[in-house]
Amino acid sequence: MSNDYKLRVSVDQDVCVGAGLCVLSTAEVFDQRDEDGVVKLLQSEPPAEFHEKVLGAARKCPAKAIKVEQI
Ligand code: SF4
Repeated sequence: MSNDYKLRVSVDQDVCVGAGLCVLSTAEVFDQRDEDGVVKLLQSEPPAEFHEKVLGAARKCPAKAIKVEQI
């Protein structure tokens, strides 16, 4: 994948089911709230080295709570 663009990541905490798959795949970008496991976004424009993992996390999220757009 080319690295000459940015990705903007957003999460929908209302639909997240707290499965934690995103954190397992990309702990640099995603974390979970201590109290209920709902996703927390650590960085909305992760560097290129994390793009593949972030896209994979978005695909695998069971709640489709992760949106990734190219900017
Ligand atoms: S993989 Fe999806 S449902 Fe699971 S914690 Fe991450 S955002 Fe939430």
